[in-house]
Amino acid sequence: MKRLILIALLCVFILSAFSPLPSVTQKSKYNVNFVGHWKKSERAAVMTGVEQVAKALSRVTGEPPVQAFNRVFGKVTFRKVTSLSGGWFARTSGRTIWVHRAYPRLIVHELGHVFSYVRRSDPERQLYKDPIRDPEGRFITGSRNGHYDRNGGRKAPRNGYKSDYSGANGYQQHPRNTPFGNTATEDWGDIFMNWVYQSFVNNRAGKAINRWTSEHMNGWIKK
Ligand SMILES: [Zn+2]
Repeated sequence: MKRLILIALLCVFILSAFSPLPSVTQKSKYNVNFVGHWKKSERAAVMTGVEQVAKALSRVTGEPPVQAFNRVFGKVTFRKVTSLSGGWFARTSGRTIWVHRAYPRLIVHELGHVFSYVRRSDPERQLYKDPIRDPEGRFITGSRNGHYDRNGGRKAPRNGYKSDYSGANGYQQHPRNTPFGNTATEDWGDIFMNWVYQSFVNNRAGKAINRWTSEHMNGWIKK
């Protein structure tokens, strides 16, 4: 009996020894690449963000989520770092995202920057030249009198968001009152995130931003 157990254990050992090792670069069907030392939970948080974005794209195009994500974004690289200058939790350049803290909402905000990059900054330029107004003509966000006036200076929920900044679950990850926050670039990152989660507030401001975003996203996604 004991010998049988030993043989069974040996078989398990041999099988596991020859099973393919998980690849560091090919984490999933998504065309995403992980570089650096990632905890399992951190990778999972990133993949949750990626999947949320993919599902949102899929809602528009009807493609399977993975296909929609890979077509629009190409290959995205996530680099884990232990700190970022300025104390930021993440930073994006091109298709590379440096991550200090991995939260799905933050990852989605950063993917908003990548989205703008792969669409040659169309979203940011559109936002800058096309201030968002509600149906009554009231200014909600964008550029006004030659200056970027994000949220018209209003606070949540009067600016269309469920919160300004409140950490990992904040509905704005880079709000107006932080360095570089009052720009089309960061406004876009948070607009993209709330579009993905369909989390704009159901008020005049939230509906106006949502309407503007949905109108333009169709063209940008299908490009
Ligand atoms: Zn940002």
